[in-house]
Amino acid sequence: MAKKMYFQEEIETMPVEKIKALQEEKFLKQVKYVYDNNEYYRNLMDEKGVKPEDIKCMEDISKLPFLTKNDLREAYPYGLLCRPVKDCVRIHSTSGTTGRRVVAFYTQNDIDLWAECCARAIVAAGGSEKDVVQVAYGYGLFTGGAGLHDGSHKVGSLTIPMSSGNTERQIQFMKDLNATILCCTPSYAAYIGEKLHDMGMTADDINLKAGIFGAEPWTEEMRHSIEQSLGIKAYDIYGLTEISGPGVSFECEAQSGMHINEDHFYAEVIDPDTGEVLPEGSEGELVFTSLDKEAFPLLRYRTRDLVVLKREQCSCGRTHIKMCKPKGRSDDMMIIRGVNVFPSQIETVLLKCGYTPNYQIMVDRIGNEDTFDINVELSEEQFKQMKEDEDLEKARKSLTGAMVQMLGIRPKMHLLPPKSIVRSEGKAVRVVDKRKLHD
Ligand code: ADP
Ligand code: ZN
Repeated sequence: MAKKMYFQEEIETMPVEKIKALQEEKFLKQVKYVYDNNEYYRNLMDEKGVKPEDIKCMEDISKLPFLTKNDLREAYPYGLLCRPVKDCVRIHSTSGTTGRRVVAFYTQNDIDLWAECCARAIVAAGGSEKDVVQVAYGYGLFTGGAGLHDGSHKVGSLTIPMSSGNTERQIQFMKDLNATILCCTPSYAAYIGEKLHDMGMTADDINLKAGIFGAEPWTEEMRHSIEQSLGIKAYDIYGLTEISGPGVSFECEAQSGMHINEDHFYAEVIDPDTGEVLPEGSEGELVFTSLDKEAFPLLRYRTRDLVVLKREQCSCGRTHIKMCKPKGRSDDMMIIRGVNVFPSQIETVLLKCGYTPNYQIMVDRIGNEDTFDINVELSEEQFKQMKEDEDLEKARKSLTGAMVQMLGIRPKMHLLPPKSIVRSEGKAVRVVDKRKLHD
């Protein structure tokens, strides 16, 4: 059997008891550090009547107040900074689709630890200094590009800092420079696969072996579709700007959940309504506490991502706890005619029924009634086959039936000609909810 490869073997395969002790030790220090250096969080703790001295072990974390995205907006830009600006070397920012942007600060040490997390992900996907890593996440304020870029440097791989966009050139470089690992959002990976075929090539014409895809939710069905079109093994990677960026957790060869880098982040799952901490194995909102950040440490930050945590022996040898693919953010969930609907459920049905991953969900309210439309693009092949209106209608009906079975409500399905839905180069916009405009 080939030797397993890790970027930091000792930490990644550390016995669970030892990791827990390490977490506790770092946590107690981080609480005191935040209390002493951050007025905003000190006030939250004071309001709750809890002092650093009250926090004596890891379990005492439940005494601490939560932080939410709203707190981060309120404290914008410097309110949660724990170091003077002169000690910081970089900022990043969330995409800020709703409301004010959130800005996170990094010291050089913060950047180094984050890069190591991404390096662990690259090595877990089979990367080494022999690999050529094409980073097609956006560069700039977004953490995707910078994170994988720095991680690839740590591994010693040849890094192609492509950023997203210009897809033909992307593929040309991939081919000419023999890129072996592609890093981008899954929706962009799907588009690159499509474009490759449009350019008259197949997976055999390129040298990719793996992809590291994240920053947005994607389904198992999407994974299979990308793996086929690019001829690779596709790995998930998760992260958020507030906590550092991509690489908070990453998938290994088992492709069944992402190992959380527990030496840097402590994860809890809570009931999003009551804030109560749930036992391992329950689905709930993921909450992170950073354990050794300097510039922008966050205690009990509510991510709004819905996950399940499980600690189990993994075939890869890593001991860190795993989180399942987030089902979507709690705020991605739509309530349509009183029923909870996640875009990921729709994606699953579409791909299972042989449709393309090019779709858009539109919700509106007319009078008191929610309207619910799903646009799905046909592939060239499907389009050719469905020449007759009857064929189209038959396909539409059968797809509607499959949706009703999954969702419990009936969407209006629209099958559109090829290339009629805008492709994503970053995070795909899957939902247009016009009801929000009326509020
Ligand atoms: P924004 O919150 O503005 O999108 P970020 O770029 O920091 O800013 O995005 C972080 C969020 O992206 C996470 O909280 C999560 O909802 C989503 N995300 C990141 N990676 C994944 C992934 N692998 N699967 C599903 N969702 C992900
Ligand atoms: Zn594993």
